[in-house]
Amino acid sequence: MTEPQQTTTSTGKVALVTGSSRGLGRAMALELARSGFSVAIHYGRNQAEAEKVAAEAQGFGVQAEVFGADLTAPANASALVDQVIARMGRLDVLVNNAGITRDTLAIRMKDEDWDAVLQTNLSSAFTASRAAIKHMMRARAGRIINIASVVGLMGNPGQANYVASKAGLIGLTKALAKEYGGRGITVNAVAPGFIQSDMTAELNEDTRKAYLAGIPLARFGQPEDVAALVVFLASDAAGYITGQTIGVDGGLYPH
Ligand code: NAP
Repeated sequence: MTEPQQTTTSTGKVALVTGSSRGLGRAMALELARSGFSVAIHYGRNQAEAEKVAAEAQGFGVQAEVFGADLTAPANASALVDQVIARMGRLDVLVNNAGITRDTLAIRMKDEDWDAVLQTNLSSAFTASRAAIKHMMRARAGRIINIASVVGLMGNPGQANYVASKAGLIGLTKALAKEYGGRGITVNAVAPGFIQSDMTAELNEDTRKAYLAGIPLARFGQPEDVAALVVFLASDAAGYITGQTIGVDGGLYPH
């Protein structure tokens, strides 16, 4: 175990962030750890990166465990939740963050590109949430935070599969918030704009310039900008917020 760099007061709660081996998920897991949550770090392919994130999280004096699961198969997402509960003893916060893009115009989009994006981004978030809710209902408390996207609200050419998955996540958020509010479970969505990560590094210079021109705060976001909202939604202070979709987009798409 790494030497504590800055020990925090433990909340006694466990948070699972899917796709926390890198990018936004990594920042969310580390900020949750800094705030005293024990964290389940999940990876798809990058186990070594996930181990590094866990070591960094342990530096805050909390428990951090690593879990691997390929979320292109939704059954793996519910199994992941069950494994986290079995190994860490409880689950208080589920952040459905893992996501992929397979961009192309709709007329050229293959069925497998549609299916892979919908299954990873939406169906796995559903099966993970279903498994988590069963556990959270017994505790009469829980937080589910779905990482959607500004494009799920505004649409975007070349991303029919991704946009549909993110709009679906926003709908899922509203439905689950209504079903389980009475059980003390809040469900919210976060809609990031253009955030610097491996996902956006793939975009060409013209697309990046076009996005930047539309951002009133005149900069791209950082993973920590999104992580700060996730930590707030996971905190006791956010206990009366549910069914919402909150943008972190520098003003790109006010709604
Ligand atoms: P990223 O850098 O590409 O990281 C994606 C994460 O998801 C990785 O940890 C990856 O794990 C995991 N993942 C991907 N496919 C998986 C699979 N089949 N099974 C299991 N895990 C899988 O992406 P990001 O930019 O951090 O985005 C995180 C989330 O924010 C996504 O849902 C994305 O749609 C959303 N978002 C991002 C932006 C942005 O500007 N970056 C904007 C709006 C919304 P491994 O590397 O271990 O495989």
